[in-house]
Amino acid sequence: MLADNLTQVRGRIAEALQHRGGPMETGTEVTLVAVTKNHPPEIIPAIQALGVSNIGENRVQEARAKQELLGHAGTWHLIGHLQGNKAKKAVALFDLIESVDSRELLAELDKEAGKLGKKQDILLQVNVAREPQKTGFSPEDYEAVLPLLDQYGNLSVRGVMVIAPATDDEALIRRVFHGGYERFCELKARRPRIDWLSMGMSGDFPLAVEEGANLVRVGTALFGPRDYSLRNY
Ligand SMILES: *Cc1c(COP(=O)(O)O)cnc(C)c1O
Repeated sequence: MLADNLTQVRGRIAEALQHRGGPMETGTEVTLVAVTKNHPPEIIPAIQALGVSNIGENRVQEARAKQELLGHAGTWHLIGHLQGNKAKKAVALFDLIESVDSRELLAELDKEAGKLGKKQDILLQVNVAREPQKTGFSPEDYEAVLPLLDQYGNLSVRGVMVIAPATDDEALIRRVFHGGYERFCELKARRPRIDWLSMGMSGDFPLAVEEGANLVRVGTALFGPRDYSLRNY
């Protein structure tokens, strides 16, 4: 049941916070993003009624269909890869675009946010583990883009997003999350208003919190398995 699942997830976050080695640059609070992709729209008001206002979706069309039905309550996060030609829609739909993974996309989002007169909050997604099948800035491209961020006047860079490899190798997952934390600290040292380190999903969010995440993206542990027949968006 949803309320029980939420209590469990919150409990595991609290426990992971206790297991941190010491104070961290990401603070002492963790914000939960409920990942509602491939679940029916009505779970959004259901989880929001339980006090979770942050909603994560990975596709523009699906988020748009849900917002047309429900309105735009809470804070909407885009967590999936975004194609440049959908930047305009993404800027209209999302409060925080977590999956910004290239200079081309930075430029496109900046342009569209400018047209809408919006200051768009974004995170930089870093492919810390250098997985060839994953998107995200490579660690080198991330280093290279840091000095250029001021040129995107309609974007507000708020932090870093990392996805760990799908593996049982806990030590590897921890190393990747620690790498994400180091990138966050680097960004925070050189820019104002850096708040968010988004790391951790259902399988690994306690490890992510221990390694410094303050934004976790959880779907399955709250809502159960996704229904991939819900593709009519
Ligand atoms: C789907 C997704 C999640 C949530 O995954 P669960 O394992 O269901 O918690 C988190 N982050 C991203 C980027 C995702 O695409």
